[in-house]
Amino acid sequence: MDDSVPILLIATSDPASRRILGDELRRRYGADYEVVACADHAHGRAVLEGLRRWNRQVALILGCYGPADRGGLDFLRRAYGFHPAAKRAVVVTWGDFASAPTVFRAIAQGYAELLIIRPERPRDEEFHGAITDALDDWHLAQGVGFEAVRLIGEVGDERTHTLRDSLSRNHIPVGFHPVGSETADRTLESLGLRDPALPVLVLEFTASPVVLENPSDVEIAEAMGVTRPPPADKVFDVVVVGAGPSGLATAVYASSEGLSTMVVEGEAVGGQAGTSSLIRNYPGFSRGVSGAHLAYRSFHQAWTLGTDFLFLRRVEGLRADGALYAVSISDGNVVRCRTVVVATGVDYRRLGIPQLEDLVGRGVFYGATVSEAPSMAGKHVCVVGGGNSAGQAVLHLAKYAKKVTLLVRGATLSVSMSEYLISQLEATRNVGIRYNTSIVGARDQDGFLAAIRVAASGADATQGEEIEAGGLFVLIGSVPRTSWLPDTVERDPAGFLRTGARRDVREAGSARPDKPPLALETSMRGIFAIGDVRAGSIKRVATAVGDGATVVSMLHTYLAENPLPAPPPAPGDEAAAPEEVPRDVRFT
Ligand SMILES: Cc1cc2nc3c(=O)[nH]c(=O)nc-3n(C[C@H](O)[C@H](O)[C@H](O)COP(=O)(O)OP(=O)(O)OC[C@H]3O[C@@H](n4cnc5c(N)ncnc54)[C@H](O)[C@@H]3O)c2cc1C
Repeated sequence: MDDSVPILLIATSDPASRRILGDELRRRYGADYEVVACADHAHGRAVLEGLRRWNRQVALILGCYGPADRGGLDFLRRAYGFHPAAKRAVVVTWGDFASAPTVFRAIAQGYAELLIIRPERPRDEEFHGAITDALDDWHLAQGVGFEAVRLIGEVGDERTHTLRDSLSRNHIPVGFHPVGSETADRTLESLGLRDPALPVLVLEFTASPVVLENPSDVEIAEAMGVTRPPPADKVFDVVVVGAGPSGLATAVYASSEGLSTMVVEGEAVGGQAGTSSLIRNYPGFSRGVSGAHLAYRSFHQAWTLGTDFLFLRRVEGLRADGALYAVSISDGNVVRCRTVVVATGVDYRRLGIPQLEDLVGRGVFYGATVSEAPSMAGKHVCVVGGGNSAGQAVLHLAKYAKKVTLLVRGATLSVSMSEYLISQLEATRNVGIRYNTSIVGARDQDGFLAAIRVAASGADATQGEEIEAGGLFVLIGSVPRTSWLPDTVERDPAGFLRTGARRDVREAGSARPDKPPLALETSMRGIFAIGDVRAGSIKRVATAVGDGATVVSMLHTYLAENPLPAPPPAPGDEAAAPEEVPRDVRFT
């Protein structure tokens, strides 16, 4: 078969499963993929190794788990090391409920990405739905095939990486060709570019190719022409800042309920959720869903309902403009609107250690991912951080893990963690605390975290000591993205936006002396905050979406209370003068 055809590989010692899966996959996908069925796991590993050496693309690896094959999960775990980009699925037989806890734990640990029930009849569309979703995710991540945009740059260059990432997260088919590769050289020569400023972006989908040398985000957005700034006289009912789960949910509900809606997104649709390869706890997606998929579907839904989008442009400022708001965009334009929904989320502080970044999702987790805790059973787990969230995560993990070690950079916890949590940590038998300790590196085994390297804070990193660790949870804080908002919008001490009729908001919110703010309204009238950026929010996709849906009813309330002024009468028109609008927009 053609060497460019991707492979679907099955390896199981269970002959019945091998036959059923092989037949099903060949019948449905045989024209587009090569299906390889291996008689056992050792054979499967040898084939994967060979395919890696021959540079063959493996799209999907299937292993089985059940009474007839107890080695399938370990096979899938080790398969990652050969083909990290391949989707890995564990297949179980219907009714084998006894295997479920083991399989769920393995999925939580990243051994496999999805669980599939073996088909027991021809045309099992549930099975094929799972397979085609996995293949769709794989294609999305690969960006193989059609190239709408060709990107030429240096391997390892940060700007090139960011462009590649943000274009593919925005569902723009991008082909990356490193400088010096045959395609890159041919392309540059055909365009007459001898010594271009890298990275070079070639838009292939326009009537004649558009070439951009080291372009800014705004230049790319303008050249793409997908989203154009609205006419200067257009007034939106709502401008949503940020297209993460909360902003997209607002767009869907606001547009479907007749509000004219503009969403401005600085990077890529989906926000933090869009960077997650698998969201396992979003209701309704029992096999989990990739963040990119969830985001793209919500974006498409909002777009078809009439939302206007501005991509690759950031909101840089906000000011009152008579009875309206003026939102300043990074391309120099100003969008006018009656309300603003701030859905800008947070940036998680990262450790910035490349070895650890490579292992995120496979032993390394940012945030208190409670759902991962059961999969830590019997392991030594480390938690980094000195705040209350780190303390709570340690106590939760200690219910499952053999031992939990809290790594604290400073000499004490008493300045950053509540006293009751410190006492609970000290009283918990399988919890240890190491002060004055920083992480300096990590070691993996088959692509999964095996050990971390720690050193005394401030000491030479090469002097460190290795600690075996099956999991590492990093809780070193998050920073809300609010620097563009006026200082007068109330924040909590950590910088999150306060909303609702809290006493402190009412007192500081003299902008609304007559009425308390609506539940998701900030201290500034008509400015709402939702999702992770909101003080007290639960940092989850579903709660962000819930905020996005809820805020729309408050937008209706606010807009009804604050109607737009009637337009001035045309010269010679006998109509009465416009009524004064009972509205007061002030910043303090
Ligand atoms: C790796 C990872 C995995 C996760 N997994 C899960 C999970 O499995 N389950 C779960 O429930 N939760 C998960 N979460 C948490 C979840 O993704 C967040 O709670 C959720 O995305 C918050 O949504 P949001 O819309 O409030 O903000 P965000 O998702 O942070 O989106 C904010 C958006 O605003 C944009 N933006 C910011 N500033 C500006 C500006 N000035 N102008 C224009 N645009 C701007 C950003 O580019 C971003 O796209 C995960 C988070 C991460 C990082």
